[in-house]
Amino acid sequence: MPVKRRNHGRCKNHAGRTVPAHCHNCYRLVPVDKITRRFNIKQMIESNIQQDVLAACVVTDYVLPKLYTKIQYCVSCAIHNHLVHVRSHEERLPKPVSLDRFKRVAAKKVAKPVVEKKVEEKKE
Ligand SMILES: [Zn+2]
Repeated sequence: MPVKRRNHGRCKNHAGRTVPAHCHNCYRLVPVDKITRRFNIKQMIESNIQQDVLAACVVTDYVLPKLYTKIQYCVSCAIHNHLVHVRSHEERLPKPVSLDRFKRVAAKKVAKPVVEKKVEEKKE
């Protein structure tokens, strides 16, 4: 049977079973390592009303509070909300490692100053 992804779309790393969690959109049970997470920061008040609220506020230099929410989606909801997209076979293949990376590592090794250890002579 052909397999679409080497890791079956998960990052389980030889763990036997992972804890399931609910999708925040459709409440489907999804393994935690398969979930798509996003951190949203939204203004509590809409942008067109903000100026009016700040003008009516008694406290000077008042900063309007924001909503910080962490959302987790199942695969189908993440695709539906355009958070992730379906990729072609060529896009899914692992990218070849560029040789520049090895050159940088080699340059770092050369650039490091060699610290010579002083060998103390043992007095007998
Ligand atoms: Zn869902």
